[in-house]
Amino acid sequence: MTTPYIMLVDDEVPFVETMSKRLVKRGLKVIAADSGNDALVKLDQDSKVDVIILDVKMPGMDGIETLQEIKKRHPIKEVIMLTGHATVETAIEGMKLGAFDYLMKPCDLDILMSKVQEAFKKKHEHESKIDKARIDKLVLTRGY
Ligand SMILES: [Mg+2]
Repeated sequence: MTTPYIMLVDDEVPFVETMSKRLVKRGLKVIAADSGNDALVKLDQDSKVDVIILDVKMPGMDGIETLQEIKKRHPIKEVIMLTGHATVETAIEGMKLGAFDYLMKPCDLDILMSKVQEAFKKKHEHESKIDKARIDKLVLTRGY
């Protein structure tokens, strides 16, 4: 497995900047987005993102709407919801809609790192299964 490529989505720009720096220091590759729409545009442009850390509460497209759109367009990417105490219920809703897990703000970096690694591993295993199924199908079709 390679290095996890993370997208951080949050409307609080100083938070995103600080977090990005800290995650890069920990060896992750990080791209930032400051809205749900920005995230979708950037995901369409750059298909290599593995895990998206997504703020629940954002103006415009909120976290749930963004999650649903991400899962529709990029079903294999894993999403971790980022929430404050007031919006835990929304994060749980997100997990029912396919989010991998949630993180409570302010984020403990060790917890964040371990959740990112878990999500990355899950995505990697999922992709490997799909690759294997493709090979199986190829073998079956060619009758080897
Ligand atoms: Mg917010």
